Amino acid sequence: MIHSKYTIRENNEAIILNAIISQKEISRAELSVLAGLNKASVSSITKKLLEDELIHEDRIGDAARIGGRKPIMLTFNGKAALTLSLDVAPNYIEGLIAYIDGKILYESEIRGIKVSYDNVLAYITEMVEKLTQHALETPHGITGLCVAIHGLVNQEEITFTPNYVLQSDLKAQLEEMYPFYVYLENEANLAALGEYTFGSISDSVVSLSIHTGIGAGIVENGKLRTGKKGIAGEIGHSILYPDGRKCPCGNDGCLEQYASHQAIYSELEQMLALPDLNSSVVIERYKKGDPVVQKTLRTNAHYLSIAVNNLAVIYEPDLVVINSSIYSQIPELISILKGDLKGKLSCDTSVVSSSLKRKATLFGGVAKSTQNFLNIQNLKMNKDS
Ligand SMILES: [Zn+2]
Repeated sequence: MIHSKYTIRENNEAIILNAIISQKEISRAELSVLAGLNKASVSSITKKLLEDELIHEDRIGDAARIGGRKPIMLTFNGKAALTLSLDVAPNYIEGLIAYIDGKILYESEIRGIKVSYDNVLAYITEMVEKLTQHALETPHGITGLCVAIHGLVNQEEITFTPNYVLQSDLKAQLEEMYPFYVYLENEANLAALGEYTFGSISDSVVSLSIHTGIGAGIVENGKLRTGKKGIAGEIGHSILYPDGRKCPCGNDGCLEQYASHQAIYSELEQMLALPDLNSSVVIERYKKGDPVVQKTLRTNAHYLSIAVNNLAVIYEPDLVVINSSIYSQIPELISILKGDLKGKLSCDTSVVSSSLKRKATLFGGVAKSTQNFLNIQNLKMNKDS
């Protein structure tokens, strides 16, 4: 299989390709109108896209759609290339190999580990080897490897990882090992990109990832808003209580000290005198009506409503996606959160639980590689197609 790097697609080619993807199927005449390009240009661009096997001529369309001869309908070839997507957390690595349309060929995970400076490359190599064994032949081979990092990533350099130590130039090291493009991005940012590309029809999406900490990813028309140093979206370190609980970031009273899953577990462990709580136990106790767990999770929904209110008045996104293993199993928590959005400026904010769930970050990695491969920023894919 060829793993060569590709050259960046030219703009008109990307515009035509995006129109074909968004319309599902379209004729050359319709493309000419939609893209604002003359028929000769459309004809030569589609010829090249057909040669590159990025599109197919699928069937004869209905003449009535645009008049004249019956047109040949064009469709996107979502199986033209493959992507590798990895989520490298402090205590696990998950990965998948998928076509550029998001269809997964194989997924794998390594759990119960402690990722460190010394072993991260070996773990990534192990995962990439496992995944590429399941690669199928495609016209363009593997287009990219995207690695999600649980920490700050600035211009694809790792700048701050509170829960593990990684080499700041991990991307450069991986680029030396592999012939395809390598991308590095913060996991909450990738989750947001995954939601934007594969999970929603909205133009602007904020995804709120609630795990050990709390992070948000902000996407507008397919572009991640990361800030100058990658700090944008670090809502876990917005201040909920002035002079409140100390946070490792240096602030007092940060949101994630009260509203992260870790905060939920610590609080319940103390109140219920139960060690090592996890989301399954919390969910089970909530569903059985345990009043202590119910009260704690209701309070959590209230805290998160404050975060959503703040995000809404700062960014006014079309959609806020909550990514939490607890919220995905207890949908009524989303209703409680929405009910607590009482501000006139934020009460209409759309809030949903993630449809991609645990895979949002990995789908974000697929989106990142595919965006670059196709040179389409505002790429929207229906992963079920
Ligand atoms: Zn903090």
